[in-house]
Amino acid sequence: MSRIAYVNGRYVPHTDATVSVEDRGFQFADGIYEVISIYNGHYVDEIPHLDRWDRSLAALSLPPAMPRVAMRQAMARMIRRNRVRDGILYMQLTRGTARRDAPFPTRSTRPSFVMTARNQNLPAVAQVEAGGSLLSVPEIRWKRCDVKSVALLPNVLAKQKAREHGASEALFVRDEDGIVTEGGSTNAFMVSAEGTLVTHPTGNAILGGITRDRVLQLARASGLTVEERPFTLEEAKSAREVFITSTTMAVMPIVQIDNAVIANGQSGSNSLNLHRLYHEFCTAEGI
Ligand code: PMP
Repeated sequence: MSRIAYVNGRYVPHTDATVSVEDRGFQFADGIYEVISIYNGHYVDEIPHLDRWDRSLAALSLPPAMPRVAMRQAMARMIRRNRVRDGILYMQLTRGTARRDAPFPTRSTRPSFVMTARNQNLPAVAQVEAGGSLLSVPEIRWKRCDVKSVALLPNVLAKQKAREHGASEALFVRDEDGIVTEGGSTNAFMVSAEGTLVTHPTGNAILGGITRDRVLQLARASGLTVEERPFTLEEAKSAREVFITSTTMAVMPIVQIDNAVIANGQSGSNSLNLHRLYHEFCTAEGI
């Protein structure tokens, strides 16, 4: 079965799914995206993802492609047509096609709205139990990391460097104060010596992850003390536990940062518990 993409109202095989060479997403990274996971045929946190989509549009003064009702119909059709049961829906909107000139086009251009969908499993339990590793990299991004923009070059370079060092993910750390902001495409958490779950507060310095919010809610409900405050790389290296979250990684325990082994080098019990709770949440949720 060939995969079907959505391109400006049309459902076409990937080989025919194209946008213009003068699309502003291609030329200037002038666009936003979302990734929503589908678990057992159901969205996970669909509405929070669509709310963040709207916030990203507003932050860049991008027009919506269509009303939300129509968008949700197109999304559902993409999932059906690609027979996605466990996987992801990718959505992207750019300021459209116009003669190359950096300011917004003066004549109103139609935004380019594309979607792809594919089956893709969350990390296997064995992988979660083994845990991952992080490579710290300098935080070189802009001051609107809260916007889910397609301008991902610093993230691409950071994640490539992590891969070259055999690490599973990059960890952005600010030079000036040693503060951990977030991962290359994940939010970062630690469990302090006192057993408090700590993660960077939302704001312009990080992308407010939908998985982050959900995991914080599950953590509080399970009785964990939660602190949304900045923490340093040094604190993380000597923490009791570290883990990262994202739509595609769910909750991934971390057992090493750079050359430092976290605690006893095994996935932490709180991390594994939150992984289980998040998994249960995904299984329980309906469209
Ligand atoms: N931070 C960054 C920089 C990301 O790219 C992502 C994933 N897109 C996340 C955090 C995690 O966000 P979410 O839980 O919504 O997938």
